[in-house]
Amino acid sequence: TDATTASARVTPMMEQYVEIKTANPDSLLFYRMGDFYELFFEDAEIASRTLGITLTKRGKHLGEDIPMCGVPVERADDYLQRLIAAGHRVAVCEQTEDPKEAKKRGGKSVVRRDVVRLVTPGTLTEDALLEPRRANLLAAVVRVRAETRGFTLGLAHVDISTGSFSVGECEPETLSAALARLDPAEVLIPEALRDEFAPAVADTRAALTPVGRDLTDPARSEARLAGHFGVATVEAFGPLSKAEVAAAAAIVVYLERTQLASRPPLARPLREGRGAAMEIDAATRANLELTRTLSGQREGSLLSVIDLCVTSAGSRLLAQRVAGPLLDPAAIARRHDAVEALVAAPDRRRAIRAALGRTPDLARAAQRVAFGRGGPRDLAAIRDALMGAEALAAVADGLGGASAELGQIARALEAADHALAAELAATLDDELPLLKRDGGFVRAGADPRLDEARALRDESRKVIARLQASYADATDVRTLRIKHNNVLGYFIEVPQAHGERLLKSPHAESFVHRQTMAGAMRFTTTELGELERRIGEAGETALALELAIFEALAGRVSAAWETLRACADALAALDVAAALAELAVDRGHVRPHVDDSLDFHLENARHPVVERALQAAGKPFVPNDATLSEPDADAGLVQLITGPNMGGKSTYLRQAALAAVLAQAGAFVPAQAARIGVVDRLYSRVGAADDLARGRSTFMVEMVETAAILNTAGPRALVILDEIGRGTATFDGLSIAWAAIEHLHEVNRCRALFATHFHELTALARRLPRLRNATVRVKEWKGEVVFLHEVAPGVADRSYGIQVAKLAGLPPAVVKRAKAVLDELEAADRASPVERMIDDLPLFAAVRARSEPDAADPLHEALDAIEPDELTPKGALEVLYRLKALR
Ligand code: ADP
Repeated sequence: TDATTASARVTPMMEQYVEIKTANPDSLLFYRMGDFYELFFEDAEIASRTLGITLTKRGKHLGEDIPMCGVPVERADDYLQRLIAAGHRVAVCEQTEDPKEAKKRGGKSVVRRDVVRLVTPGTLTEDALLEPRRANLLAAVVRVRAETRGFTLGLAHVDISTGSFSVGECEPETLSAALARLDPAEVLIPEALRDEFAPAVADTRAALTPVGRDLTDPARSEARLAGHFGVATVEAFGPLSKAEVAAAAAIVVYLERTQLASRPPLARPLREGRGAAMEIDAATRANLELTRTLSGQREGSLLSVIDLCVTSAGSRLLAQRVAGPLLDPAAIARRHDAVEALVAAPDRRRAIRAALGRTPDLARAAQRVAFGRGGPRDLAAIRDALMGAEALAAVADGLGGASAELGQIARALEAADHALAAELAATLDDELPLLKRDGGFVRAGADPRLDEARALRDESRKVIARLQASYADATDVRTLRIKHNNVLGYFIEVPQAHGERLLKSPHAESFVHRQTMAGAMRFTTTELGELERRIGEAGETALALELAIFEALAGRVSAAWETLRACADALAALDVAAALAELAVDRGHVRPHVDDSLDFHLENARHPVVERALQAAGKPFVPNDATLSEPDADAGLVQLITGPNMGGKSTYLRQAALAAVLAQAGAFVPAQAARIGVVDRLYSRVGAADDLARGRSTFMVEMVETAAILNTAGPRALVILDEIGRGTATFDGLSIAWAAIEHLHEVNRCRALFATHFHELTALARRLPRLRNATVRVKEWKGEVVFLHEVAPGVADRSYGIQVAKLAGLPPAVVKRAKAVLDELEAADRASPVERMIDDLPLFAAVRARSEPDAADPLHEALDAIEPDELTPKGALEVLYRLKALR
């Protein structure tokens, strides 16, 4: 029937909606209608659930109700942020023409709309959507067949909120560590590699975005990357590998496809040298709580207690440095020099920090403006930051003598664009609206035409005030008022009773009736209409002029983008140096000596986080030494630490690792003296019982991770193993811990700390020359155990487990019974075979040597003789027959 046809008919608007939605199937579609973004169908259901907003209906589509919900444009940022945080992507679809235009096209035409932007976790720029002290990285991983064999991964990352852009390479095995260092918000992974790389992404907090082959096609990468930057070839960026170019190209193409209306300016891709940073895998990072705690908070992490930065940009840079400590002693010393120079100059340090504290986030403000998403307050931020830079250049001047880095910073600050700062200062008003379209941000006197338009507008307003008085006189209605609202514009209002009188007055014909309200009547006059038109026109002219001024200033900012970025980087680096100096003075940290040796020596070291926590509780922290090297040795020491639970073993282990991280990040360390030979890889593992957050069998996780360490730790590594092997039956655990120590000592030969409650293992010191026993000291006092938190050479005489349990409040009867059981067990244990075994069991090295092929074996010799690079195909075949014959 007619009725069904009518209801099944698709309206032109719905037709447009469906078309746009079909093109963006993976995103929630924010469809602009007037002052709202509307969502329809399933999108509406998802958004209403996620945002807790009301789901309504709007008309019918193919005979069915259309679910709908909407968010006001004014508050869209807030809703966007929540949808992104909940893991959604949002396509923002705007009206791209004036509705009047659509009307002109005739009856059924709908306003043209287009998606202007896809909002994803890695492509945010608005302050409301960003954490001020955290970089917001978008990373891309691509896989390229390596020239020799196997595959290389290209890993690129950008922060479009600041424009930074870096590329590098890594191996499939190190991808997880590389991503953990970057801590990106979103990672692009080729669809085909999704399964393979998903676990590496899952170790981070990033959203995984699978991308099609077209984005990562190496054949087109060079042209795409060069095209984006408008250069003839990618050689303009210096030597980049195929994998690096492909990863960088994937990023620019993704940005082109998501940032449709305007492209973020990007710095040219900066190559991160392979092996520039300490390798720290995700588990180690989590375990050491470098930038956030095990539960995911920043508060309580190493970063949170050492971050005394006074700017967000400084905090972001410090986070980056802590996440990727350096390996080059010269670069590390350069950072230490800067900190030392500022430690030595307390007055300047204070002046610098005070000035920095008033400096806004230049990088993000400049980026928003250059990106076309800025507002008047962003311009003001640029103005204030530039003026701050100018003042700081003067304060930092002269520090360059003591520190090359500070000298470089001072030069960058001097090069800040003073002309732009002056122009902004002369143009911007003191009080600024958030949005440019609200107008009123240009200072009076900055532009004569604007002043004129504003004068006209304000003058007309005065004329209206005079008009009110003259109408009141003429009509003799004292309560006559001229008012304004958005529907009628300006109108004359009189109380109902007076309205009748007015209509009978001699002036009646000049008053045109507009509205009758409860108790009031509203009129207008030709004169008022004319004035209103003039005010409107003047206002429009003023706004248009202001917007033109804004665009001109934005153009200046875009043109100065590179120098603004350099200035922002210098401000951040100065903040970090001054903050680390402040930290060193405030907490008594010392400059570490970092070199290319294999040394590791800390004197009276502390754990910065535990120390802060104890301080807050008014308790002292007991400092301890740590020595993991012997002079001029080519291998590190393994320190085996025994002692009761709660004695301070974990704290002691971690403080050694944190000292290495801090030292190589360029900070001073919480100790009285520190000598550290560069650590290239850091490993930290805790026995399964502490590792709660995982779904897999915890013991399995522990073993997988221990295996990774034993398989990969080289002589420069620093390894920390805390209670490895406790996740299984005693003998199993003991055997695994035993074998692991031997392996560390004989094969990895690295600097290592090993805490255990298997006291039996201490006997290994008799066999392993570089194994050192240490214990956390306790005192017994009236049957209670007192933890001294002192680490001393030697072996714990007992584990005090029952005393600790008693402290924890185990019922006295249970404690008593446990003591009795323990006595029995200890009596039986004296006959234990473990002690004897230590001396009898052949050493690990010996076992290994035996299981390895005998060098005199002819098969082995033949294998050794093969030179694969020099073999012809025929020769290779012959070799195979020969080897087979030797079998
Ligand atoms: P374990 O690993 O031996 O069980 P922890 O390292 O977890 O012990 O330390 C237990 C508690 O002892 C910590 O929470 C801390 O409050 C305190 N502690 C540890 N080391 C020290 C120290 N050096 N000085 C003072 N208190 C410490």
